[in-house]
Amino acid sequence: MRKTSHYAWMMILAVLVCLVALCVGHQLAGFLQPALVGGEVPQVPPTMTEEAMPALPSTTEPVPSDTATATATATATATATETPLPPVRLTIVYDNNAFDVRLRTAWGFACLVEVGGMTVLFDTGGDGAILMQNMAVLGIDPDVIDVVVLSHIHADHVGGLEALLSSNDHLVIYVPESFSSEIARRAGERAQVVPVGGPQEIVEGVHTTGEMGTAIVEQSLILETGRGLVVVTGCAHPGIAEIVRRATEMGEVDLVVGGFHLSGRSWSDIQGIVEELMALGVRRVAPCHCTGAEATAAFEAAYGTEFIPCGVGTVITIGP
Ligand SMILES: [Zn+2]
Ligand SMILES: [Zn+2]
Repeated sequence: MRKTSHYAWMMILAVLVCLVALCVGHQLAGFLQPALVGGEVPQVPPTMTEEAMPALPSTTEPVPSDTATATATATATATATETPLPPVRLTIVYDNNAFDVRLRTAWGFACLVEVGGMTVLFDTGGDGAILMQNMAVLGIDPDVIDVVVLSHIHADHVGGLEALLSSNDHLVIYVPESFSSEIARRAGERAQVVPVGGPQEIVEGVHTTGEMGTAIVEQSLILETGRGLVVVTGCAHPGIAEIVRRATEMGEVDLVVGGFHLSGRSWSDIQGIVEELMALGVRRVAPCHCTGAEATAAFEAAYGTEFIPCGVGTVITIGP
């Protein structure tokens, strides 16, 4: 009995050893196969090749193929969204045209630009108290402003600066190079003043046209957005079409917002400028400040749904 039992155990053990040997053989074949990708000749023992090979192409080849496809797709996606532009938010905080009835209107212009975590105030309106009051109603803390850009020397654009300097001790102020040295010097006592000559980038995605015009030198903003460029003008003394033409050197213009300075111009002059902006490819307009009622009506008639009513409190958000 004991001998028979011992013999049976030996048989079971032998079978197990054989099974293990077979399993190891299969595993080894599977393990070696990935090394074959790339066209190398299989170095698998002939006894295993016939059994192992048929299953291998279906398990190993699709892997690199899928990986390659996935990589190509990822590369294409990365190229398409290589430079995603952050949303841009414009808020008219000072204007002589009414829009948000909670805010005070007064002659002048100021536009807050929020982009990529930076806050830029373009012009400051004519009266510091009105600027501060309007910003308070809109929930804008003057201390969050990083940069001020002054379009030109006229009081309806620089008048609010003193009040702002009293509420913010870390401003960087970009002024036209030819700006009054006295205003620049006084501002320089409480802020960093940067004179602007030619076109330059102020913060990421926010550019200045640089000084334009002769009699009244002025700079305008050009913002990069996911819909194209946005041009923000103070009074557009150098000519709204001239300013937009300079912007088109950088790319397509989606929107022009601000003072177009067409008050008192003839109907045919106004029509000519509307047509010029359309010919320059301007897709949307939001005229305010010194544009004048007649010109504003002409732009509304020409642009239809692409005309944005603009006054103090108007908010324009441009997504990616
Ligand atoms: Zn003005
Ligand atoms: Zn002006």
